Order: sequence, then structure tokens, then C-alpha cells
Amino acid sequence: MVFKQFSVYLKDLHAIYLLDTKYKFDFKPLKNPQLIVIHGTGDIPVTVNDYYTKSVEELGQPKTHFIINSKGTIYQTLPINMIGNHIQRRNEYSFGISLHNIITSKSATQAMKYSLIKLIDILKEEFSITEIKTHKELMVEDVLELMIELGLYPVGEDIHHSVDKYKNKEELDKIDVQKLLILNGKQLEEYKQYLIEYINDELDQSLYSSMLIDRIKKVSDCPGKYYSKLKINPLI
Ligand SMILES: [Zn+2]
Repeated sequence: MVFKQFSVYLKDLHAIYLLDTKYKFDFKPLKNPQLIVIHGTGDIPVTVNDYYTKSVEELGQPKTHFIINSKGTIYQTLPINMIGNHIQRRNEYSFGISLHNIITSKSATQAMKYSLIKLIDILKEEFSITEIKTHKELMVEDVLELMIELGLYPVGEDIHHSVDKYKNKEELDKIDVQKLLILNGKQLEEYKQYLIEYINDELDQSLYSSMLIDRIKKVSDCPGKYYSKLKINPLI
């Protein structure tokens, strides 16, 4: 590891550009960013540098453009005009921001959220971006889209309702893609399995059914719930 760190400014927002000079990257240009995707680096604590190295070893480049730690320090790990590797099918038009050492938005600190909101505001303004979502929200949207297409889900169903609905067992047993967003950890894995079994019962095996199962498997807590839950209090 030969890490170099230097200060960069995004308007008046300070960030630390992190670069491991051991690697040579072959980035592709990000031409028209339209989306900001929020990630969590997971619940197994790693240093920002180790997370960077792991991503490079796995993917050949850092995953997201930014990583924000619990103290609110913003690390930039990719040039802003280059494509990241953080979300399937959407890398070509999105920025990725990782929240360090968290898995659900509940564990995000105020300082982390403050920096996140500042950073998002700057990116939104600079690139006229209107869509901001968590990785998990987008993965669940992908599942929903394919389920509707395959006739497994009513069209136009409102997918935004509260966790209270799932307190009783009967509701939990119904097929509802929304649950993927609300559940996490072991419960999420169990519900994914339940959905996969349902699909295997309902559909003949085809390219689409395996695509759908694959999309369900990819739904991870990254970070859970909706981006809108990541608001800080009081609002800034
Ligand atoms: Zn993610």
C-alpha cells in the first residue's frame, strides 16, 4: 500500500482525495450523471484505506466516488468525471457515496449525515441531479419491475408504507416486495428465500425467472430503508 492523501474542495466542501499509487487505473468517463446512489460499507469494521484496497483487489478500481466516515470526513476515491463500480446497470450514469462501517441508515451518525447532505447538495446543483436513492431501494425497484413484467405483482402498487404493517404474522406471509426494503439481517435473508420459493412454484424455469431470482439474491442491506430516512435532525 502506497497511499497518498491530499485535500480537494468541492465548492467550499473539504474532502480528502485518497489514492493508492501502487495501482494504475483505467477509468471510463462519466458523461451525464443523473443519479446518486448511497451505500454502506457493511457492518464488519474496516478502515477506509482497507476498504479501498479490498475494492481495488475485487473490482480493479475503487467502488464509489466518495466514502464518508462517522466523524463526517469525506474521502474522495474516484475522479468525479469517471465511472465507479458500485451498482449493476447504473454505474454509467451515477455517483456512488459510501457511508463507512454502517449497514442500516439507523447507525449513521449526525456528522456523517451532515456531510452526506452537504455533498449531495453540491453534486445535485453541479450536475442537475434529481434522483437520490440507496443501493437497496434500487435493487428492490429492479425486483419489482421484473415481477410486474412477469405478472407476479399488481401494477401501480404503492411501495411506500410503514414497518408497522408487518408486525402481524399474516401480513408477513403475503407476497410483498416492499418487505425487502423494510426487513434486514436474518429476516431479510429468510424473506428472500420465501420469495424465491414462491417464484419457483409460480413460474416455469426460464431466463426471466432466473433473472428475477438473481435480482432477489442481490438485494442487500446497503444501507437499508429509503434515502429519505437518512435525514438529519434538525433539518439543515
Ligand atoms: Zn451498495
